[in-house]
Amino acid sequence: MKTIGLLGGMTAESSAEYYRIINQTAREKLGGIHSARSVMFSVDFEEIDLLMESGKWDEIRDILIKGARAIERAGADFLVICTNTMHKLAPEIQVRIGIPILNIIDVTAEQIKKRMYRTIGLLGTRFTMEEDFYRNRLQQKHGLKVLIPSREDVRTVHRIIVEELAIGEIRETSKQTYWEIMDLLADQGAEGIILGCTEIPLLVKQEEGNIPLFDTTTIHARAAVDYAIAD
Ligand code: GLU
Repeated sequence: MKTIGLLGGMTAESSAEYYRIINQTAREKLGGIHSARSVMFSVDFEEIDLLMESGKWDEIRDILIKGARAIERAGADFLVICTNTMHKLAPEIQVRIGIPILNIIDVTAEQIKKRMYRTIGLLGTRFTMEEDFYRNRLQQKHGLKVLIPSREDVRTVHRIIVEELAIGEIRETSKQTYWEIMDLLADQGAEGIILGCTEIPLLVKQEEGNIPLFDTTTIHARAAVDYAIAD
């Protein structure tokens, strides 16, 4: 079994989910009391958040490279960056480390393509929804058409992530807001929705609605176990 390297703390709420899902999946796949070999480097998100809001991505990149290198030194065979937003920096991190990154966008796109969907809605932080790094990879590498909410709804989705989900607050009103926004994307032709922020699956659940949801936390964590146990 390979050792999974987890770059976490973005946020701690979702990193706990990664740890839980990874070990649950290892037990499910290997039986007995198996668990996954892993190491985690967890950052202080307050620091990252301030840098993100002031656009200091170079400083974030340097912090993440330090973390990724510590993970590599600790014996990890590959790297899982436990957040969608920070995949903006994945190419820059990749060239500075010697282990491969298991990209959250790619493993999610694989699941969407398995269902034969072509048009997909994307929810996440405003960076994930509005910038190129996420949508372009889905479009250019995977041939998917990506729909995002209106400007106002982008702001609402982002605000709920940073003000509520990032600190573990789950509000019924926010859940309803998310479903309304997802319904609008479905009306525009989205065949499914990418929950493209690793805290969103704490708020909305597949059983609450009919639109197929792609939970990036679960997809990424399970893909990590598959990769760790593959020959
Ligand atoms: N975990 C989030 C993601 O997957 C980012 C958290 C945040 O920016 O508050 O993008």
